[in-house]
Amino acid sequence: MYDLIVVGGGASGMMAAGRAAELGKKVLLLEKNRTLGAKLKISGGGRCNITNAESDVRQFLKAYGAAEQFLYSAFAQFGVPETFSFFESRGLPLVVQARKRAFPHTEKALDVYKTLEAYLKKGGVTVQTATPVTRVETKEGRITAVYSGNTAFQAPVFLFATGSVSHPETGSTGDGFAWLRKLGHRVEKPTPTIVPLAVKDAWVKQLSGTSLSFMKITFFAEGKKAFSETGKLLFTHFGLSGPLILNCAHKVADLLHSGIVTAAIDAYPHTDLGALEKKVIAVFDAHKNKALKNIIREFVPEGTHTGVTTLLMGELDLAKKVNLVTKEERKKIVHTLKALPLTITGLMGFDRAVVADGGVPLSEIDMKTMRSRTVPNLFVTGDLLHINRPSGGYSLQLCWTTGFVAGTHA
Ligand SMILES: Cc1cc2nc3c(=O)[nH]c(=O)nc-3n(C[C@H](O)[C@H](O)[C@H](O)COP(=O)(O)OP(=O)(O)OC[C@H]3O[C@@H](n4cnc5c(N)ncnc54)[C@H](O)[C@@H]3O)c2cc1C
Repeated sequence: MYDLIVVGGGASGMMAAGRAAELGKKVLLLEKNRTLGAKLKISGGGRCNITNAESDVRQFLKAYGAAEQFLYSAFAQFGVPETFSFFESRGLPLVVQARKRAFPHTEKALDVYKTLEAYLKKGGVTVQTATPVTRVETKEGRITAVYSGNTAFQAPVFLFATGSVSHPETGSTGDGFAWLRKLGHRVEKPTPTIVPLAVKDAWVKQLSGTSLSFMKITFFAEGKKAFSETGKLLFTHFGLSGPLILNCAHKVADLLHSGIVTAAIDAYPHTDLGALEKKVIAVFDAHKNKALKNIIREFVPEGTHTGVTTLLMGELDLAKKVNLVTKEERKKIVHTLKALPLTITGLMGFDRAVVADGGVPLSEIDMKTMRSRTVPNLFVTGDLLHINRPSGGYSLQLCWTTGFVAGTHA
């Protein structure tokens, strides 16, 4: 007989199972895939941005928006410093990179997985893979068993860690949301939040693979300015990605509900119109007798000349010699560089989302223990919880925190 059954062997389930076993509990971990941690292994492009090294807990928790107030008690038990010591004391030093993002020093998500695998082994957790839980049985408001096909698994306490719906090929197909709903929990509808944007403009797609730092993008809803952000963006064959875009996506999702969303990329956010015009004039002066199309490369950010050429083609005669370009035409070029136009057609789907929000509202969970307020012998962790967050290690930190806290109290 087991003391605890954990359903779902992702980041938070592994942490929770390992922690409960460390405290002497007999733990069974059920996972539907053949191996554990499929999503963890692809996290951070395989490098695994394990947490964010923000040392001020208030500042750190602010990143979770409305969830901030609910998270203090869990983070007091296991926060960022505990994440560092958890992994480092188990032989996996972490390094901090730009924007305080912390990675394993090997930059291999697989090493994070291996550390957790060793944690499970040391605690004597029984891991049963290739076992999809298909049904949850209850009696008088408590869970009595979970079933995989006809096989029942019984324990006094259960923990759901089945993740959300992003990248469903990793096993996160929303099963836990369905069970939680049936058990009487409210489950906020998941939407992909940290996700690339689809755009319709050919010039963007021409730049597929080009990545640019310090770009400013301004979004407009029905032509009215909504908000601007500056950061690193990546052009792709479907539109835009990169940290700047991923972190804007939830706000763009809101705008898309209100109508047509357009955007403008300022290729030189730190240069005003006058200074940029001077830069263009200097290039013109140096290449007076060349055709305009042959010198575009000289005044656009590296790697973007094909896209900018396409954009300008509709507006100007690019075969024209530079010394014949009028002042108005020159101003047109400068204004285009300060506002490369595009139209957002939507968010990419769950298949490309890093994180989807949605899940159980935190008010329905005792956040000191991660116990359900509806089902007294159930604990819930990780992406099953409704917490909006940015990229940069904030999702996995939630898994470490909620997994550890749930494992401690389950
Ligand atoms: C491409 C990508 C990159 C990311 N990079 C980062 C990053 O660098 N930093 C960061 O902080 N976050 C990152 N994230 C987010 C982070 O990976 C997730 O928040 C985290 O892995 C969620 O862990 P979890 O334990 O809640 O659930 P999951 O990892 O989704 O695990 C759920 C597990 O439950 C299993 N399961 C589901 N249903 C059943 C069932 N019926 N029966 C049995 N088992 C079941 C699944 O197979 C899966 O193994 C990334 C996400 C993606 C998709």
